[in-house]
Amino acid sequence: MHIELSEEQLMIQEAVRDFAREAVLPIADECDKNSRFPSELMGMLGELGAMGVSVPEKWGGHGLDHVTYVLIIEELSAACASVGVTASVNNSLVCDPLSHFGTDEQKKRFLIPLAKGEQIGCFALSEPGTGSDAANQQATCVREGDDWILNGTKNFITNGPIADVIIVFAMNDRSLGTRGICAFVLPMNTPGVSCGAKEHKLGIKGSPCSSVIFDEVRVGED
Ligand SMILES: Cc1cc2nc3c(=O)[nH]c(=O)nc-3n(C[C@H](O)[C@H](O)[C@H](O)COP(=O)(O)OP(=O)(O)OC[C@H]3O[C@@H](n4cnc5c(N)ncnc54)[C@H](O)[C@@H]3O)c2cc1C
Repeated sequence: MHIELSEEQLMIQEAVRDFAREAVLPIADECDKNSRFPSELMGMLGELGAMGVSVPEKWGGHGLDHVTYVLIIEELSAACASVGVTASVNNSLVCDPLSHFGTDEQKKRFLIPLAKGEQIGCFALSEPGTGSDAANQQATCVREGDDWILNGTKNFITNGPIADVIIVFAMNDRSLGTRGICAFVLPMNTPGVSCGAKEHKLGIKGSPCSSVIFDEVRVGED
């Protein structure tokens, strides 16, 4: 398939390429060697518009199309795959679901700072015994009054150790299969949420990854 890029897409591609060469490439090797997350770049990525590319402007993003999003991630990843992964998780696994399915209250509270790069998000579906087969997950959510109580362990969570916000999935009614799964968005500093040790990865080591544990975590309806 041949995709002809628009003038705007070419301009954004060039701007991100310049940024990546100047700010990302010089630290990529050091971050990978030392398994260091380049936190100093996050604010700049936000200003560049790389953290909430497709999020509507009203919610802190740039309302751009998905081809532009891919161009941005390509340019960042060419300089440092870890930075590309961090941005892509924030964009596609956290901002996009919030943008499409979040309430206005959730968008105000979580999406705006995530799309601006002021906060970082992570997405927790996989578990130690369940990857592709999400319906077999063991994490549970149980209704208690107006709240939900979450318990379980999520595995290999990219951005887990450095995230401010998490989208987590848990089973409410196993008899309904995938339709029995609920999704929650909550701050990582919610009581009962903790991270396991940072994984020792073979590559893309500047992108931190860990398990995230939920121990009697109480989440309000909103
Ligand atoms: C570096 C890294 C970062 C990650 N980040 C995240 C994250 O941020 N959030 C998150 O939730 N998860 C994350 N994951 C987990 C990732 O999504 C899972 O590893 C993935 O879903 C596969 O699950 P699994 O490892 O349990 O493998 P399995 O599901 O056990 O699959 C093993 C193999 O069997 C194949 N297979 C599975 N089911 C079938 C089937 N029905 N038919 C044919 N073949 C099948 C698969 O293709 C695969 O080759 C990350 C993983 C890694 C390695």
